[in-house]
Amino acid sequence: MKRSATLAMLGLLLSQSPALAQSCDAGSVAVQILGSGGPAINRFRSSTSYLLRVDNQSRVLIDMGGGAFGRFGQADGKLADLAMVGISHLHPDHVSDLPALLWLSHQSRKEPLPIVGPSGNDAAPDFQAFLSRLFDEKAGAFQVLGPVLGAKQGTSGGGVPLKVSVVDVAKAQATTVFDAEGMTVTALGIPHGPMATLAFRVTTKGVSVVFSSDQTGTNPSFVEFAKGANVLIMHLAIPAGAKNPLHAAPEVVGRIAQEAGVGHLIVSHVGPFNLEPAIAELKTRYSGPLTVGADLQCTAVK
Ligand SMILES: [Zn+2]
Repeated sequence: MKRSATLAMLGLLLSQSPALAQSCDAGSVAVQILGSGGPAINRFRSSTSYLLRVDNQSRVLIDMGGGAFGRFGQADGKLADLAMVGISHLHPDHVSDLPALLWLSHQSRKEPLPIVGPSGNDAAPDFQAFLSRLFDEKAGAFQVLGPVLGAKQGTSGGGVPLKVSVVDVAKAQATTVFDAEGMTVTALGIPHGPMATLAFRVTTKGVSVVFSSDQTGTNPSFVEFAKGANVLIMHLAIPAGAKNPLHAAPEVVGRIAQEAGVGHLIVSHVGPFNLEPAIAELKTRYSGPLTVGADLQCTAVK
């Protein structure tokens, strides 16, 4: 068997095997996918989550969909190392493992944890209200997590205090949500049907990664936001030829990446459909390096 065929088969096996603990030491800046799937049940893909690593420290966590809590452990993620958590929007496939991450978080981190989420509209509460409904010590669903919103740590309660920021999804310009320790993170609201969502751009050590989140691909400002990123992660949520009020078609994903002139496109949030025609459609508009995301996949940002 030729070496390339052997490697291709190995790649196929790896992409279809249950994920094992996997470190990500690909370079000084690397992005690791914790969840490469969307809302559909999937044998191999957890729901959406990404970890940006700098000097092999877990520095920025974007989204926390179902299954991401386990992947965070497999990726050897450290709560104490996180500069911030960004939540793109409040669909369960992007945020449902947040309570799991926070429960017992006070045991591994003492500093408040900065967390950023979207403002609300008719389709969703704003992020502060969402957190209150979950974690308020009197009225929340997880009263035991009251300390994350400032309640006193007790014998029955836990969680590291959150430092919450809410970004206005209707604002035309990007908002800076973190700027310290040689790293800048900006967020921009983009349309995702009735529920707006936040895209995040992280810049550190002279390189940038953009996390697009779910989107219809109809906000032209996103191209500017993603311009020249070394790595762009976009969501390939619907099959070739499909139309959907919430998600961009494969060719729209390709066009945006091409127009933004990114160094490397990773598609993630992959749905349970035949990928080959979707990738072919995407490639009619995009000619640069392309990777299909997988859980725990690690990519150097350069
Ligand atoms: Zn989603």
